Amino acid sequence: MHAESGNEQGRPDDTALSFTLADEAATLALGAELAPLLMPGLAIFLEGDLGAGKTTLVRGLLRALGYQGKVRSPTYTLVELYAIFGLNFYHFDFFRFEEPEEYLYAGLDEYFQGDGVCLVEWPDQAGAYLPSADLRIRLSVVGAGRGAEILAASPRGLACLKCLTNLPAASPGATSSGQPQPR
Ligand code: ADP
Ligand code: MG
Repeated sequence: MHAESGNEQGRPDDTALSFTLADEAATLALGAELAPLLMPGLAIFLEGDLGAGKTTLVRGLLRALGYQGKVRSPTYTLVELYAIFGLNFYHFDFFRFEEPEEYLYAGLDEYFQGDGVCLVEWPDQAGAYLPSADLRIRLSVVGAGRGAEILAASPRGLACLKCLTNLPAASPGATSSGQPQPR
């Protein structure tokens, strides 16, 4: 198994990584691999249709950090807070926004100014009001499984992505089941 990176023109670069996620366990495992790479103030956008696995990936990430409670979709609450090891994780879902201004009305901007890690489902729904991402994760349904593409959108995001390529699951030869398979 190897990590394949490339840009939209197909040329290799170090700003994107693609994975095949054969089952839910693989999505959880990809979230778990991201967990130790996070740093205060990081913003991660999770893109993809309903059912693409965005909440599942967040669940894997939080569980890997030791959170044992339920990780609910914030579709109705807009944001769920998890305080882990003194670091706040804010999990947003803007699916239900009828207009981007709802982001401002809900006073969500302050979450993005602090040291918390922001994980955002449906970021496009907040339009230009949302601060820019450090990492963008695009999930898509591929057959019975999912595809994931992780793009670095800032120097800090790029630093995270480079660490991810050094992890065992992104190394040639590792093929255990339930793991994200880089493609
Ligand atoms: P989203 O938040 O993008 O709407 P969810 O995380 O709620 O999606 O996941 C929707 C469904 O997809 C869940 O039943 C979950 O178990 C399933 N799922 C997640 N990852 C995978 C995968 N890699 N292969 C198959 N099913 C998956
Ligand atoms: Mg969701």
